[in-house]
This record gives sequence, structure tokens and C-alpha cells, in this order.
Amino acid sequence: MTPQITLALSKGRIFDETLPLLAAAGIEVLEDPETSRKLILPTNRPDVRVVLVRATDVPTYVQYGGADIGVAGKDSLLEHGGQGMFRPLDLQIARCRVSVAVRADFDYAQAVRQGARLKVATKYTHIARQFFSAKGVHVDLIKLYGSMELAPLIGMADAIVDLVSTGNTLRANDLVEVEQIMDISSHLVVNQAALKLKQAPLKRIIDAFARAIAQD
Ligand code: AMP
Repeated sequence: MTPQITLALSKGRIFDETLPLLAAAGIEVLEDPETSRKLILPTNRPDVRVVLVRATDVPTYVQYGGADIGVAGKDSLLEHGGQGMFRPLDLQIARCRVSVAVRADFDYAQAVRQGARLKVATKYTHIARQFFSAKGVHVDLIKLYGSMELAPLIGMADAIVDLVSTGNTLRANDLVEVEQIMDISSHLVVNQAALKLKQAPLKRIIDAFARAIAQD
């Protein structure tokens, strides 16, 4: 019997940009996550199903075997730590960057030069801690789960660390990008035990994804 493969995806850009890769592997998701309320989506292949989880939870589902395979942003992987999984492919999708942004009237360069202690609001506490510590800047990190842009506007933080794609969200909130910390794209992650137990079907998916990326 063919083993069941469970693939963890998050709604939005990652889901949309993974669909062509799945098509290259002969896998078609049969329901649209934007209209369906289901958390487990069937595919045209009886042995493959998709589970919809929060982007930041994809590494956790793959780590604990809730999913055999998943697509996770490098940001989510760095925050999670990446234990218990292989990372065989950079899918080069859902590209963006992690940046530091401040209010247009805040002189970030001067604050850094003067050795000021900065209040930084972010969902990405690991990435931010590592970045500022390597730079020798003292920070108080304020953990938020969304709408980071609000924190400097209401005076709760001097800076934010967040994902930036077009920069429109920052501009709309009168924030300016002052440092680019790293480029982000989504990676394929595979549960280590599943890669041994379900080696053949997982390898077929990984190879099909790799061929599709190489063609782009
Ligand atoms: P933008 O206005 O295009 O710069 O996009 C910034 C907003 O979209 C921020 O709220 C980000 O958290 C979010 N964002 C940008 N790129 C991504 C991505 N690849 N994955 C998830 N969220 C993103």
C-alpha cells in the first residue's frame, strides 16, 4: 500500500506559489483554502493531503510528524530552530526580506552611534536578538504577533523588525527601512523519520519540485 503523505502549507502567498510546484509533481489541490473552511484539503492523489496551518507553525508540524513535509519561510525556520527536519530545497518563492524600520522622524543612525538602548517590537525575536547583538546594539525586545508597524507610531517602540516585500505597508505608516537584515524565501522541510519511512514517495515530490525550480 502507498503510504499517506501529509503536506503542511500556510494560506496566502506560500500556498499560491507552491501550487505550480505541486502541479509539476502531478499533485492538484481539490479545494480553495480561501473559500473552504476545511483544514485538511484533499488532492487528486488519494495518497497526498494538504493541511493548512499558520506559517509559523509549519516547522512545528513537520518536527513532530503532524506533517511529513512542509513549506516554511526562512523567517519561520530561524525562529523555530529547525530541529527534527531536513531542509532539502530553497524553493525561491514568497521572497521578501527582514528589515529594521523606524519612524521617519527618528534618527536611527545617530541612536546607534550614541550607543542608545533601543526598544524594538517584533515577532522575530531570535532574528532580531542575533542581529543587534552582532552589531553591538543593546535592545529591549517587545514580542508582538502582528501589526508591528503600530508600535513606533504610538511611541511603544523605537524600531520594528518585520518582513518587507514592496515596502508599501511601511510607507503607508510613515515608517522607513533603515537596515536589511536578510533575504527570505520559502524552503521545503521534511520530517527526518518520514524521510526514512516514506523515502520513495517523498523523494519523488522533492525531485519534481527541484526540477520545476531549475526550469524557472
Ligand atoms: P509590503 O507592504 O509588500 O512590504 O509587505 C509587508 C507586509 O506583508 C508586512 O505586514 C509583512 O509582515 C507581510 N509580508 C511581506 N512579505 C511576506 C511574506 N513573504 N510572507 C508573509 N508575510 C509577508
